[in-house]
Amino acid sequence: MAFFKPDWLLTSIYALRPIDLKRNGINTILTDLDNTLIAWHEPESSGQLRAWLAEMAQSQIQVIVVSNNNAKRVARAVADLDIPFIHSARKPLPSGIKRALRQFDLSPRQTIMVGDQLLTDVQAGHLAGVRTVMVKPLVETDSWVTLFSRFMEGFIMKHYARKDAQFKWRERLDD
Ligand SMILES: [Mg+2]
Repeated sequence: MAFFKPDWLLTSIYALRPIDLKRNGINTILTDLDNTLIAWHEPESSGQLRAWLAEMAQSQIQVIVVSNNNAKRVARAVADLDIPFIHSARKPLPSGIKRALRQFDLSPRQTIMVGDQLLTDVQAGHLAGVRTVMVKPLVETDSWVTLFSRFMEGFIMKHYARKDAQFKWRERLDD
């Protein structure tokens, strides 16, 4: 079970700050798209997202989307954000993240995978050998696939919380 355990739990990807990332030796953020970076039902990017991306760019922290969605969907979603992406990543398999590591010549030790799904994003990150951050989904989805996965996730999360008093949602990486 410890296999799925994320290295950090954060309320939102926007809670990632350059100073905290640098303290942890991180220079690259691989991020899930839907419900991590943008709300799944809202194609428009928010002012908060733009501000956060600008802050990262200013601090030379790379942000790269790693999504299971197809090229067309991801390209459309990130078109106005000017960030690179990996599409059809096949998370929970590690292949998409490994592709990102190769393609952008990244060091796994300086890279994190951020996502809102334990069984998909976090597992893929672990399998690819990078540290992982689990965030709360930006909005709740209603597809039954997601509901089932959330149900399983709930069990596992409770298990971790019982075993580890430090396992809780935080506002900063090193809170
Ligand atoms: Mg997601």
